[in-house]
Amino acid sequence: MPSQPESPLHFVRPTVVLFDLDDTLFDHANTARAALAVSTAGLPEFQGVDLEQLYQQYSEILEEMHPQVLAGRYSYEEARRLRFQRLLAPYGLGASNAEAEQFAHRHYGHYQSLRRPVPGALPLLEALKPHFRVGIVTNNRTSEQKEKLAQLGMTHLIDALITSEDVGATKPNPRIYQVALERLQGSPAEAVMVGDNWLADVVGALDMGIRPVWLNRFGGTRALPHVDEITSLEPLSEVLLKITGPVPLPIGEDADFVNKG
Ligand SMILES: [Mg+2]
Repeated sequence: MPSQPESPLHFVRPTVVLFDLDDTLFDHANTARAALAVSTAGLPEFQGVDLEQLYQQYSEILEEMHPQVLAGRYSYEEARRLRFQRLLAPYGLGASNAEAEQFAHRHYGHYQSLRRPVPGALPLLEALKPHFRVGIVTNNRTSEQKEKLAQLGMTHLIDALITSEDVGATKPNPRIYQVALERLQGSPAEAVMVGDNWLADVVGALDMGIRPVWLNRFGGTRALPHVDEITSLEPLSEVLLKITGPVPLPIGEDADFVNKG
């Protein structure tokens, strides 16, 4: 039997939509910036310090240490203290463990309370939830991600949370994607993966035969031009078109999809 002609968008209509969480649905970058601003406000050591530069330093240290924490080389608390000792040392702070821990504790309180979604994330999930099985595939701790989803008001919009901690493998390892597809009862061909991290989310998905959509919010360069890219989760209609292709009709109407693109 001849195969069905391809859709105008040249991909299979997905039934499963997978998302990364940190810096894809949860705005880690801007939450961390805001928290650093509050954590350093009023401290003479940070007078005149460029906060963007401080954020970049924090971000580099975090990126370097996060895989080691996931690999169990440091406990979470230990890593947090070490991270802040490295960040604070050039400013003459955090020399003692207690001082670094105190700063880290205060900062993490701000970071938690200032959490915000990536603009457009909530309307996007609300639009997808009735029509697709929606999963989160994340390299992070389960308790932290559960709490984060609850605070962001996303828990009820997600069908499955798949964490590297639960699976025992981190993206781009195919194992974590396999578990996600098992949990959501989908095949790679009917899934799409949306994420900001080129290696973990894009290459990881491609290796599994899942179509990736790269969220490139910060002007990165796309290494593979055939990979779909979005630079924001807004406007909703354009983002939906990139992620799911033809826009689904509201529930209750005919199960087929209408291409409004
Ligand atoms: Mg991410």
